[in-house]
Amino acid sequence: MTELEWDAPDPLTPPLPGMPDPGSLPGLPIPPRPPATSRDRRLTERRRAALDAGRHPHTGALARPDLGTCGTCSALQRQEGVAGRYLKCGRFPALLTRGAATDVRASWPACGQWRPRE
Ligand code: SF4
Repeated sequence: MTELEWDAPDPLTPPLPGMPDPGSLPGLPIPPRPPATSRDRRLTERRRAALDAGRHPHTGALARPDLGTCGTCSALQRQEGVAGRYLKCGRFPALLTRGAATDVRASWPACGQWRPRE
């Protein structure tokens, strides 16, 4: 099996009707293929962007670092999973799934719903 070049015509994706085959247009700049990113990496980048914008990554609400962190909140729960333990927020049960997208980090700044542990 031969390796396909990026600017070679893709045999599996024919050109759209009425459009020329990009491989037949000499000199046409072909944009570089964007780097492949995993779902976990995109999730990390979204969370980092939320933190940089002063938002809580789980709730999207304004982060409140003056209150504390998720690690000191009474709503923080440990969930046992197949591959380990995960931290989840019990304050918003409607937002919970068993996936990584609803995991919270103990180090994240608190949200407005933070309550101290008793
Ligand atoms: S209520 Fe807010 S501060 Fe407390 S664990 Fe949930 S997201 Fe974190």
